[in-house]
Amino acid sequence: MELGDLVRALRKTHQETGSWRQVAKEWGVSKGMAYRIAMQGYDPKSPEIRRQLKLPLPSVQVISVQGFIPDGAQALEARRCACGAWFIPNGTRKRCYNCLLPKAQRDNGNMKRDEMTETDRDRA
Ligand SMILES: [Zn+2]
Repeated sequence: MELGDLVRALRKTHQETGSWRQVAKEWGVSKGMAYRIAMQGYDPKSPEIRRQLKLPLPSVQVISVQGFIPDGAQALEARRCACGAWFIPNGTRKRCYNCLLPKAQRDNGNMKRDEMTETDRDRA
């Protein structure tokens, strides 16, 4: 559902019930959230609320350099490395994870994931 459709649907529910409390109950969000969306066009940020209201989730592709990143994982910000790649810093990191790899493993800002896997296989 797009935000405009949701705004109309919430207002309709409010017209029918005459109460934001009832709107909140029917849509499974807080009274304040229902009002903010319906009357101020607020676009909820929380993935849980977006799922509850059937709003589209923001879609981004995250490349895991190491380890498992679950759906809905939180990140404070992304920074742009001097090489142009975006990365999520841990602490004061200034360069992306790719730029910290030995030069032989770099590939125009993208990790050579397949090659690394093959190298690992060759070692095994
Ligand atoms: Zn970089």
